[in-house]
Formats: sequence, structure tokens, C-alpha cells
Amino acid sequence: MRITNLNPADEIGASAWLVEMDGHRLLLDAGMHPKRDGREALPLFDTVAALKVDAIALSHCHHDHVGALPVALRHFPEARVFVPEQSYFLLPRVLHNSVNVMKRQKVELQIAEYPLFDHREVERLSAVFQACRYRQVVEWGVPPHKRAGRMPTLEFFDAGHVLGSAGVLVRGRKETLFYTGDVCFAAQTLLSGARFEDVRADVLLMETTRGATATPKGFTREAELERLRAAIAAALARGACVLLPAFALGRTQELMAWLALQMREGHLPRRKIHIGGLGRVFTEIYDQHAHRTERLHPGLVLQDSLELDVLEAGDAARMSLTGGKIFLVTAGMMTEHTPAHDLAARMMGDASQCIFFVGYADPDSPGGRLKASKAGRAFHFSDSTGKQVRRCQIQTFDLSAHAQREELVDFAAGLAPRAVVLGHGDPAARQWVAEQVQERLPRANVLQPAPGAELSL
Ligand SMILES: [Zn+2]
Ligand SMILES: [Zn+2]
Repeated sequence: MRITNLNPADEIGASAWLVEMDGHRLLLDAGMHPKRDGREALPLFDTVAALKVDAIALSHCHHDHVGALPVALRHFPEARVFVPEQSYFLLPRVLHNSVNVMKRQKVELQIAEYPLFDHREVERLSAVFQACRYRQVVEWGVPPHKRAGRMPTLEFFDAGHVLGSAGVLVRGRKETLFYTGDVCFAAQTLLSGARFEDVRADVLLMETTRGATATPKGFTREAELERLRAAIAAALARGACVLLPAFALGRTQELMAWLALQMREGHLPRRKIHIGGLGRVFTEIYDQHAHRTERLHPGLVLQDSLELDVLEAGDAARMSLTGGKIFLVTAGMMTEHTPAHDLAARMMGDASQCIFFVGYADPDSPGGRLKASKAGRAFHFSDSTGKQVRRCQIQTFDLSAHAQREELVDFAAGLAPRAVVLGHGDPAARQWVAEQVQERLPRANVLQPAPGAELSL
């Protein structure tokens, strides 16, 4: 088999892998680089544009895995698109949102080539998406002539990362590949953790997001959540507002579920939760699928359990910040022109307000700079706000939906494939995982292909 890394950057970047097996080609994910703009953010489709691709399989609906799908389908118009069942409902919403964001950025950041695709194209493409249940085996190869031999198959395994996330098992005539996508082995509040126990594969293609993040001794998700509960309770008791910047898909619903349970059990006072429009859209889909997934608390309907208030355009810049409000809004990294950015800009100068980070924020993003800021000192928050002095309370809670690095190494060691290909991680993260996996599997071929590099395995 051959595997080509189409991520344009030597970091987490945009996920896209081209796999060739038994003469057929499958594209695994078609993401956009979240930190780049315009065509620079696309995977390296141009380098493989002359090839025929039979199918595209998507691991989950985050932007860095699906944001470039319409562009991929222009290069590979014959490809069929396979997604896990729940992603089938999320995917069009995610792509339509990308169109909206690109149209806005075209004006705000003067990116002439935006949007890279439009709403009509997304509408038209949605008709070809094929939903697969977890563990359903589907043939993805297109026969070159009528009586071709056995076709390669794919099978989705629940990855526990967000609703509809999956690892993809690709089976050829002689060999198998397993792609983890983004994976979370531990249970979150709603999702019950990856179910990769039955996976057997010759080659493992694995994410390494947290490879450079050491797990503190005695770390538990429960203890982090208890710390967060105490911090929110203390803030509300003195009438302060709490801003929880979060990705609209996944983190928002996990936190909503946890807040609903805390309020129901009396561990937090009942309060309205202010969310963004996109957060509400994905919350509806989470609720619709409550009983159709093997999740925890299937009876917990988020929209019924919480009093939700959807922010309208301009609310974040205008509404009063008194009376102990809870904001659970995008963007997780506080990109400019988002509610999280605008609220943070207003809250940070006030010593009584609280901003609690519950996920990763790139050091180069406004969120990352705020996280690293020192109380009472000016720092550059964003281009639109310039220098600001931070006086509010900042705390960080580790509620990642990615596997701990030790869990990744354990998974690879247990699977014992002949080759391990590492991606979706910054160089230091991949390096740590590579060394640990090599130590546990001395005979395995551990590889980190550079952007555009093709591996022959
Ligand atoms: Zn993800
Ligand atoms: Zn990702």
C-alpha cells in the first residue's frame, strides 16, 4: 500500500491522506488548515490532481478534517463520500458555516479568492454523501471493468472524540490499514470513549495531538471538572460573569451536558446559558441523536435541561456584563469577530470577571496570548483591539477530547502493526510518540512523512 501525506504543513494543520490499495485510491479526510488563509489552507491536492480517486472517507466533522471537501470533489469528481451516520447530519451544516465564515473573511481580511466554494455547491454535493453505521463494512473501490476481483472495504469504529467521529479500518486483499482520526479513549460527559478493541491492522495511521503534553501525576477529568465547578460557583456567587470559549461542535455540547447535570443536582445555581447560533445548531443534532448513539445520559436532552439564550449579532459587544452570566461561545481560540473574542475584550480589564479556558488555544491566537498574559500588564490581544491590560481572572482546565499521549502509545503497542505512521501533531508531539512507540515495538517501522511525501509500505 502507499500513503501520501497531503497536509500542507509540518504541524497539526489540515488532515488529508491519500491511500492506495490494490490499485484503488481512497482519500482519508479533506481538512483545512485552521491558521492559514485562502488556498494556502488547502491540502496538497494539486500534487495528486492527475490521479483517479475512488472514494473519500471522513473521520469526523471538524474543520481541519472536512473543510476542504468541496474542493477535493472538484479534483476528484467521481469519488463517493462515506461518512459515519451522525456526521451525515452535521457535515452540510459545517460546510455551510465555512461558506459564511469565508464570505465574512473576504471582506474583513480582504482575501480575494474567498469563498472557495458556495452554498449551492454544498447543497448539490450533499446529495452524494453516504452514511454508514459504525462497524458496517462497505466496498469503496470502483471496479475498472465489469468482472473485477474483490473490492477493498472500509469500516468505521466509534472514536469517542465528537458526535459521529470514527477511526477508519481499510481492508484490501492482503493488508489492512487503520486510521485513528482524532481519538478520545476516555469517556467524556456525553460520549463514551473510543471503541477500538476489535481493530486489527498491518499499518496504523495515528493522530499525535497531545504528544508533547505530559499528563500530570494523578490527573483525572473528574478532578478538572470539580475544579471548574468550584471556580464557576465562586464567580456566580459574587455576581461575576464567566466566559467559557469553546468549539461549537463537541466541546460546547459536552460542557452543556455537564452544566445541566451540575445544575440539576444542585452543585451549581440554575442560570441561563448564553450560546452562539452555530452552537445551537449542533446542539439540536446532538439532541436528535441522543438515543441513536451509545452515549452516556441518553435521556439528557440539552435543549430541555438548560435555559438557552442564543446571542444575536452584536450582542457580545453590547449586552450588560452584570448579574453572573455564563457564556459558552465560539471561538475556542478567540479568533477575531467571534463572540468569545468580543466578550473577552470587554471582560479582561475588569478584575471581577472570569475567563476559563477549557481547551487548546494556539499560542499565536488571541486566546493563546490572553492565556499567557500576566495580570495587570498590557499585551497585544488582537489586531482589532491592539494592546489591552488584563485584570480579570484567567484559569485553564484540561478537558481535552483527544487521547492522552500514553494512551496513544498503549494503543499502538497493543495493536502491534508492522508500520506506524504518525500525523496530526506538531513535530515535538510526533517525536515523543515516535520514540515511545519504537521502544515498545522495536521491529515496527515508525514513520513521520513530511508534507507531500509518499510512503510505500
Ligand atoms: Zn477533531
Ligand atoms: Zn483534528
